[in-house]
Formats: sequence, structure tokens, C-alpha cells
Amino acid sequence: MSEINNYLKTHKTIARYDYQEQLVDKGYANRTLHIDLSKKEITEKPVTQQMKDLFTGGRGFALWLLWNAINDDTSWDDPENALVIANGPLCGTTAYPGMGKSTVVTLSPLTNSVIDSNGGGFFAPFLKFSGFDALEITGKADKDLIIVIDGNNHQIRLEEAPEEALNTYPLAGILTEMYAMDERDQKNVSVITSGEAANHIRYAGLNISYFDPKRQEVRVKQAARGGSGRVFRDKKLKGIVVRYAGISGSSNNPAKPDLIRKAGKRINQEITKYDEQQNNMREIGTAHLVEIMEHFDLLPVHNFRFGSHPEHIKIDSTTWHDAFTQDKRMDSCWLGCTMACSHGVDGFELKTGPHAGEKVLVDGPEYENAAGLGSNIGVFDPEAILEMNFYCDTYGVDTISFANTVAFCMECFQYGILTEEQTGGLDLSWGNASSALDLLHQMARGEGFGVVVGQGTRYLKTYFAEEFGGDPAFLHDIAMEVKGMEISEYMTKESIAQQGGYGMALKGGQHDEAWLIFMDQVENLLPSFEEKAEALHYFPMWRTWFSIHGLCKLPWNDIKPVDNKDTDQPERIPEHVENYTWVYEGVTGNKVSPEDLIDQSERVYNFQRVFNLRVGFGTREYDFLPYRAMGPVTDEEYESRQERYDKQLKELVNIDPAGLSTSEKNAKLRKYREDQYLKLLDVVYKRRGWTSNGVPTKEKLSSLGIDLPEVLAVVKNHQ
Ligand code: SF4
Repeated sequence: MSEINNYLKTHKTIARYDYQEQLVDKGYANRTLHIDLSKKEITEKPVTQQMKDLFTGGRGFALWLLWNAINDDTSWDDPENALVIANGPLCGTTAYPGMGKSTVVTLSPLTNSVIDSNGGGFFAPFLKFSGFDALEITGKADKDLIIVIDGNNHQIRLEEAPEEALNTYPLAGILTEMYAMDERDQKNVSVITSGEAANHIRYAGLNISYFDPKRQEVRVKQAARGGSGRVFRDKKLKGIVVRYAGISGSSNNPAKPDLIRKAGKRINQEITKYDEQQNNMREIGTAHLVEIMEHFDLLPVHNFRFGSHPEHIKIDSTTWHDAFTQDKRMDSCWLGCTMACSHGVDGFELKTGPHAGEKVLVDGPEYENAAGLGSNIGVFDPEAILEMNFYCDTYGVDTISFANTVAFCMECFQYGILTEEQTGGLDLSWGNASSALDLLHQMARGEGFGVVVGQGTRYLKTYFAEEFGGDPAFLHDIAMEVKGMEISEYMTKESIAQQGGYGMALKGGQHDEAWLIFMDQVENLLPSFEEKAEALHYFPMWRTWFSIHGLCKLPWNDIKPVDNKDTDQPERIPEHVENYTWVYEGVTGNKVSPEDLIDQSERVYNFQRVFNLRVGFGTREYDFLPYRAMGPVTDEEYESRQERYDKQLKELVNIDPAGLSTSEKNAKLRKYREDQYLKLLDVVYKRRGWTSNGVPTKEKLSSLGIDLPEVLAVVKNHQ
């Protein structure tokens, strides 16, 4: 406690704002909080009916606030860039699982376009119950500071905080203790932090905390994607703290609580009864996917070259099941989430870095970390994965971007594009976890080759071509990024629908828009282009729905009703969609159909596409993937699946592979696959009501009701 008091003594309050209490009404606080760090001004803005009608909440509100904050030429590091953290009208519900997500929106240092990223933890609900549907931060502070939102005393403060170190471990714990009334009150505090790497790299993320009463420790979930941590530090933020005591089932002041309870009862019974037989999320979390991906040749290995590896058994779910500690069925990152998939490893002894020798709690790993920090860089040592997982979180590094940039460098190292001379002496051979950790520590210290790697794969491919003489075309083919953001950890070579899911994703290569690999590749449910286009319309809209309401999507499809397969559209999980219509009506009082939910998303999705256009992107040329995500780049890759590719040449392309060299066959396969992708873009754009250049038509915007003058002005020269 004396350490905390010593820190507190150095704090200086530079702005204070006392606000009126305003209770949440049917899911909305009905105002947003705006902090201008340059002017040290704290104000509030009303939420208008138009905002609710057009943008619903969460990501929708955040996009609208950012749209109004910036100019057409604002860059991510201009003071006008807003960092917006929003909740959503259903966020904070406790009677249904997965209802506590924050969505972060800003101009990204990694993509230079609009980024949205979501994370668990308690921040978003606490922000709402403190009185705000979103927090919008613009300007830049002169000195490191902490924003404190005291939701019970209705006061906001900007406090200069010169002494605390930046890293999430131990900063999140220090701030929790500092702003809690006493030990028991720690559960009422949530903080957002990043880490030292956020001062230096473009793919720095944010950590969102919650207090785990079972462990009596602060834990973190990440809104990691796209560099919002870099923006956070560029504004000189050290932490954002919200304290709110008094959460109850009626905090959202819901219109029809019985309907929410009805939906909650239905899904909670399913989870209790069937999770163990289905994905076993409560024991293993998303790490259950490792062996499934491997089985279907979908686990990224060595920079997405291969889809399986014999050593995968060292990092599969059995390993993580044994490693996860405590009563796993209590591992939820928001109150009332019975899916409880947020597992962790207690007492893990670190071997490297500033905390070497300390025993720490590692949050995770989730599937993306096991695959990215594992097989994709050739590491099959669970302890090394845990160590990287911990330091990524602590330093504020996005694990997916880190993994892919390291994998890219390792492949360049293999081909001699990179040498130890250029890496500052680091041996970047596949599987060298020690070098990967060195890169990570360098990112935090702001030195060495680690800082170069931290600029992201899009930067690296140009840098390696210009500085080290690498072949630009080859580097482009193997740099696993879309729109500047590193692709998440699934192989898409054999699923053109998933290629579209990555390529057309608004923010870049992230699977939270569409995850169609199984439907397309494994179950063959999308044989025609029209069926693929329908899926690439429906699923991105449906998945958008979660982020405009402040929800986690895992309880939608990581558990299924037993009779789901007998329904008309089992891949949509109709019973769960019905649950969400009940919860929506239960909170807001407005009766909705499943189609109404899609309409809500479609408005926000199309608006975000126009937003991309406004900031210089958002057309067809930005919807392409590196060829590595579409097919074999090298002869070695072709030959690793020769039988499959030869068969495809024969049956799909009408070319007899006999007598052709591997390079010749590979070139013909590539031509075919790239043509197929062009065709896919055409049919998907048409289905979405976009021009052949990927721009929403005026008619489409009008039919959605988002034909605002400023929106039409952006698309007018692209019709
Ligand atoms: S399903 Fe998992 S990630 Fe989602 S809210 Fe529940 S515990 Fe958190």
C-alpha cells in the first residue's frame, strides 16, 4: 500500500469535471463523454435519436464520433484523431453470456485507415453504468496522464502520473488497487493500459482489465488489433480507470427483463449440458481448435506455407488443458458468462526479460496465440509460447501481428533476404523462440531490429526490398497482411470464401467478420459463387451485430442446440439468433425480427466502408490478399500438396499436369485462382449493393437510411 501511496503523491489533477447522475434507460446512458487532452477539457454530448436509429451503439457510435472528430486528411498521429471506446445497448447484461465487450475505434497507425477492435473485461459496462455510451478522446497531453472516471461520485479527473511504469504488468494491478476503496472494492475497478512497446511499434494494442475474485488477481483481455495502443501512447495516456460499484441484473434498466431471462435460461442450460461434448470451451477455451485446424490442414505452419506439423501435439488442447489452472468453469471475462472460456496459467515462472525469475499469471493462450506464437513461427514449446504470450500482453503487443511479422522475417531469413548482420545478430531460423523473445524485448526498449519488425509486415516488405535487395514481388506474395493488418491464424488457400472473408474485411485481415472455412472447404456448403456471396453478405453483417451491441460472439456459435442440424439454416444457428431478438427486445423494449438485426448491422457496415473511402481506401484495389493466402507461392509448397493441386489443374482448369514442371503447374494454378477471386469480388459486391469498384451505391445508402449529405459527398465521385 505504501508503494501505491507514493505513486499517488506524485499525481497532479489537471482537470476535473463533475457531472449529473443520469440513470441508464433501456440499455442507453444517452450521452457520450468527450475528453480533449490538448485543451484539458472534459465535456459530455447527448446521444441523439438519429444516432440510435442509424448507428445503434457500440462500434456504430464510435465510428460516428470518429467521423465527426477528424478531417479528410487527418493522420493517426494528429491531435484530431479520436480514440473512441464504446459499449452498446445490450452491453452490461448479466443474464445472458458474453455481454461485456468494449469496442475501440480510431485511425490506425498500422493501416492508416479506420480500425475497430474489441475486447472483454469490465470497462465497457462500467463506463455505461457510470453514465456514458462511449468515451471519445482527442488531442494530446503534454505529460503522461491517467483518466479517472468515478462512476459513483460522478466525477472525471485528468491526473498527471509521472512515476508508474507503462507496462500492463504490473500497472493494471497498481491502478486497480489505487482507485479501489478497499480490497473488496477491487472488483469494481477496470482499467485500460498498454505497455512500453506502444511507444515504438505500430501494432500496439490495449489491455482491458477485470478483477478475478477466484484468483484475487487483476486479469486482462485485449483489444489488440490495428495499433490503438500506439494512438493511446501518442496521446500520452498511461491508463484509463473506471470505477463503478453497484452492478445488478437491472443496471441496464431493461424494458422486459423476463424476456432476457427466458433467453438466458435457454442458452445457459445448453452450455451446462452440452459444452463438454461440443467445444469444451469451459475447460480449454478456443485453444481446442489447434488439433481441429491441424486435422484439416488449416493450422498455419512456417508463415502459412503448410497446414500441419507432426509436432503440433506438443501445443494442442491436451497441453493447454493440463496447463490451465484453477476452477476453469469460473473463468469468465464478464459477469454471468457461463461459457467461461478465459483461461489462464497461474504461477508461470518467466525465464527472460525484466521479470525473469518471477512467477506470474499468464492470460491464455487462446487459439490465435497457440497457433501464431507456436506453429506459424515453428515453435512447439508450450513454455516459450506462454512466455511470449505474457510479454506481448505486458508490453502491449498484438500477438497476431507480432507472430506474422516474425514468421515473415523467419522466411526471409531462410531465403537469405535477411542475415544476422541485418537483424543485429539474431538468428531468425524457424522455431528460434529465444530470438523471437529478444525481438519482443527490443520492441519494449525501443531498440534494435525489434523496432523495425514492430512497424508491421506491410512496412517490412518495402523496407526489405529497398534496403536488403529482396524481390518485391516475392515479398508481396509472402507478407501475410491485408490492408496493412496481419491476417489472423487460419489457412485460407483452399477456401475462396474465406479468402473473401479476409480480403474484404473492412479493417484488414481479421476473421471476426467471416469465418467460412468449414462451411466452404470442409462441409462444401457453398458450392456456387452465389452461395459464397450470400455467406459473404450475411455473416459479416451478423458478426458486426455483436460489436454494435457490446457483445462477445462466442456464445452464438461455440455452443449449439442439439437439434440445430435439423433447422433450415444450421450455420446461422436460428435458435440463438432468436435468443438475441429476445434479449434486444428485453433490454430496449423494441420488438425485432432476425432481419431487423441484419439491417442494423448493414447500416453500420456500409457506413464504415464509406468511411474507409473517405480516408483514402475503401475500393476494390484494397480488397486483395497476398498470394500466400490464395495458393502455393513456392514450388516447395506446391509439391507438399502435389496430388491435390495436380487434380485441381486437371478437373477445374482442364490442364493436364503430366509433363509440366512444378513452376509451370504452379503458374497455371495461380492464374486460375486469381481469376476466381476476381469473380468472387464481383458477385459479392453485387450482393452487397456496391459498384464493381466496391463502393456502396447511392441507392443502397438511401435504402439503408444512411444517405446523409456528408456520406453521399464521399461516394458521389465513385458511382
Ligand atoms: S465467451 Fe469467453 S471471451 Fe466471451 S465473454 Fe464469455 S468468457 Fe469472455
